[in-house]
Amino acid sequence: LREGPPELQDKIKLTIINKDEWHYMPPLFADFALGEVTEDQLKAPVANIAKRYGTDLVIDEVVDIDPQKQVVKTKGGKSLEYDYLFIGSGVRYAPEVVPGLERYGYHNYTLEGAKKMREALKQYKGGRVVMLVPELPFRCGCYPFEMVGRLLYFARRKDPKAEVYLVTSFDEKQMKQMFKDVYRQFRKLHRKMGIVYKAGKEVKEVKEKQIVFKDGETLDYSLLIYVPPVRPPKFVEGHPEFICPNNKKVLVTTFPEFRHPKYSNIFIPTDAAMPCVNFPIAGIFVHAAAIAAADALISDLVGVRATVTFPDEIMAVADFGPTGMLVTFDIDHEKPAQKMYASQQSPMIKFMKLAFYLGWIDALK
Ligand SMILES: Cc1cc2nc3c(=O)[nH]c(=O)nc-3n(C[C@H](O)[C@H](O)[C@H](O)COP(=O)(O)OP(=O)(O)OC[C@H]3O[C@@H](n4cnc5c(N)ncnc54)[C@H](O)[C@@H]3O)c2cc1C
Repeated sequence: LREGPPELQDKIKLTIINKDEWHYMPPLFADFALGEVTEDQLKAPVANIAKRYGTDLVIDEVVDIDPQKQVVKTKGGKSLEYDYLFIGSGVRYAPEVVPGLERYGYHNYTLEGAKKMREALKQYKGGRVVMLVPELPFRCGCYPFEMVGRLLYFARRKDPKAEVYLVTSFDEKQMKQMFKDVYRQFRKLHRKMGIVYKAGKEVKEVKEKQIVFKDGETLDYSLLIYVPPVRPPKFVEGHPEFICPNNKKVLVTTFPEFRHPKYSNIFIPTDAAMPCVNFPIAGIFVHAAAIAAADALISDLVGVRATVTFPDEIMAVADFGPTGMLVTFDIDHEKPAQKMYASQQSPMIKFMKLAFYLGWIDALK
């Protein structure tokens, strides 16, 4: 828009509302927890983004939206009017839905969580490490499958006999459906590494050093790492039209412009809405969705559509510990749907992933 017609530039005012001063690269929370990057490397001031793109900035938490009056309300008491609204607030973590999870387990899904997990990993002396995925959908489909490899490397440096278990609420048949050809690749890799799968296990509660499943079975652990369950953000409470009709844990959105189905001036290209259009909760999809939504907005304003719409392929890079995997998602625009396959395996790929994340933040310093 800044490069568009001058008369339009004068009319357009962009405001970023963010609840704190920092922009994070969330995947780096895992590297931080493992002691491989510093806090400074995973965050940049949001103010730098506002400066770079010439926007206004409000540091405050959104607590409500009024789509009729076209206003968002903040915790600090502000009411901000909009003509167009982009919701990019991500998922809300809800560990409280599994009793004992938050009390006894660790996660690296926030900086605060990653700090505690880093400390727990420092204290870890040996024994069984469990990676628990208690619910579908969850943020970043590949993450637990990648992290078990990295945890095994970490744990075996302290205890050569350390075991790593991957415990999931979904069974291996569902894994095959979700990950298609990639499932075969990481299953083979995990077998070679000796990672134990316990799939299709619903958790009743987590106790100190023990997980109790709904079928009555128990599993002892020395260290429990978990993937937090997700729920829609609090500011849509009381607005059922913002919840996906097919999956109440996520926000509503539409494909391919990521507009709200009723309010065409509201775009929802955030990961908390991706399952509503059959995509996984992941940054790579959000990146493509945000560009497609911005393109739709530009088209509303200037009547011209850009050439970059939602892509036919999306690429992901994964770090499994000993090696990396390049994964491609073929996008079916008709349904919409995606089908993933592994295109390459090499340790170089995991370094590509790290370089991209570090470079993203570095560019905003
Ligand atoms: C450990 C981990 C590993 C991951 N690995 C990968 C990976 O390998 N590949 C991949 O593609 N994705 C990965 N992801 C997922 C990826 O980080 C997210 O999908 C992506 O960041 C989502 O972008 P978003 O803009 O929707 O939300 P976010 O990046 O979460 O950004 C949301 C922003 O909104 C702000 N906000 C939230 N609520 C409010 C409010 N009420 N008021 C004001 N501001 C608010 C937040 O402060 C934040 O700045 C990973 C995530 C984690 C945690």
